[in-house]
Amino acid sequence: MQTYGHWINNTLVPVASMARVGDVFDPSRGVVARQVVMASPADVELAVAAARVAWPAWSDTPPLRRARIFFRFKELVERHRASLAAVIAAEHGKTLSDADGEITRGLEVVEFACGAPNLLKGEMADSVGTGVDAYSWRQPLGVVAGITPFNFPAMVPMWMFPLALVCGNTFILKPSERDPGAALLLAQWLAEAGLPRGCFNVLQGDKLAVDGLLVHQDVAAVSFVGSTIVAEHVQRLGVAHGKRVQALGGAKNHLVVLPDADVEATIDALLGAAYGSAGERCMAISVVVLVGDTLADPMVNGLTDKLHALRLGRSNDAAAEMGPLVTAAHRQRVLEFIESGLQEGARLLVDGRNAVPVELADGFFLGASLFDRVTSAMRIYQEEIFGPVLVVVRVKDIDSALRLVNAHPYANGTAIFTRDGGAAREFARRVEVGMVGINVAIPVPMAFFSFGGWRRSLFGDHAVHGAEGVRFYTRLKTVTQRWPERTGGADFSMPTMK
Ligand code: NAD
Repeated sequence: MQTYGHWINNTLVPVASMARVGDVFDPSRGVVARQVVMASPADVELAVAAARVAWPAWSDTPPLRRARIFFRFKELVERHRASLAAVIAAEHGKTLSDADGEITRGLEVVEFACGAPNLLKGEMADSVGTGVDAYSWRQPLGVVAGITPFNFPAMVPMWMFPLALVCGNTFILKPSERDPGAALLLAQWLAEAGLPRGCFNVLQGDKLAVDGLLVHQDVAAVSFVGSTIVAEHVQRLGVAHGKRVQALGGAKNHLVVLPDADVEATIDALLGAAYGSAGERCMAISVVVLVGDTLADPMVNGLTDKLHALRLGRSNDAAAEMGPLVTAAHRQRVLEFIESGLQEGARLLVDGRNAVPVELADGFFLGASLFDRVTSAMRIYQEEIFGPVLVVVRVKDIDSALRLVNAHPYANGTAIFTRDGGAAREFARRVEVGMVGINVAIPVPMAFFSFGGWRRSLFGDHAVHGAEGVRFYTRLKTVTQRWPERTGGADFSMPTMK
């Protein structure tokens, strides 16, 4: 059986016979398909040393030359995108079309990063004083680490390393141990595109690798995306060790439906947003808030009918609308949430536990579930389920909807569906959530904007990609310069520009 290893200095590191390994599943079939090595402290040292040695020359490389490597990288990913999508789908379980979509969203960040020469331009002020000019620009930080979740094994790494690298940093990616294959393909294509050795390294592993990077004195900054409990740990440990940290966590995204919304269009939008990728998206809609009495029953009835027809299938089944969950353990966790919803008195209108066809019984499949009459005190409302379970909360007016959304601990994304421009504008202004959609169910910002939630969905000051990404991976330097003839003697008064 193949064992995925580390990628250091543009080479696959042979897996030592005594190394710790973990299983990588094929979730569509419920079998172990590969293994992955788990980094030891010595492996962390090797990866950090490679990135540290590569950094001086790379940070001195003109941004235009760095960017040209990413133009070539994009071409390579485009050329091989079918094989990348196949690896993502096989290890994650998402459908091939969904995997292909994640590649597109990742490549958009590569396209943005190709503008590095422009993105890194500084500011200059002539004559801030007599014979004195000032200019400022941003410089790279050094060795940067990225720690990524299982649900987007190509896109989330591409939120990070293209910008970090074009800004002049070197990079260590610690991908999810559940689907580590995509990271190695990306590494190979970066090398083929001309990225010098040591600039991009893949360190496989688990908590030991993550904590090793967080406490390492040669790592300057850490980007993390994953669950809130780990995000908080990463931020605390990283900051305690003097690092700049951005740590994106979990979510519970509400879609608010006003009484004037188009019921059919809203149901169609909700189906993809709640159940696409089996609900394993950080921007998935997991709560639908129905405002007023007139629309609630038609919405719930329409959703129920369509959910009975939703098609489960293996990741390579072109007709599948929803694949399996990533592991048996994760499916078990989702099943426990369904049980807890029943015990707390929510009404289970569609029960995904009975929806798996017998020919898919070997995989980690779970059908779509829909709960109605959910209250804000219930666990299925409070916690992130990260599976194909949508909960319905009914409220009387838009103010109640806003209070509900604003009181939730998570604040990643939200959406409102309505035909009323004034109400939508008010919602967008008053809602305390990082990313807002108006008749757009999954408002993932484009690469030239920045992605990030509020409250317990993001720890640290910076969102990812866009202008915030450039700021995160660089630090400001300001030079004040004078080239006059020397006149007069020393001046001990406060320096002001005369
Ligand atoms: P996870 O937190 O279990 O793992 C994320 C990364 O952290 C992995 O690389 C993993 O190896 C590492 N890790 C796990 N436990 C650790 C520990 N105790 N100490 C140190 N490192 C540890 O997350 P996941 O299950 O892979 O991904 C799903 C989660 O990610 C969901 O909560 C989802 O909402 C979130 N997510 C958030 C965003 C966002 O942009 N906010 C995007 C994608 C996913």
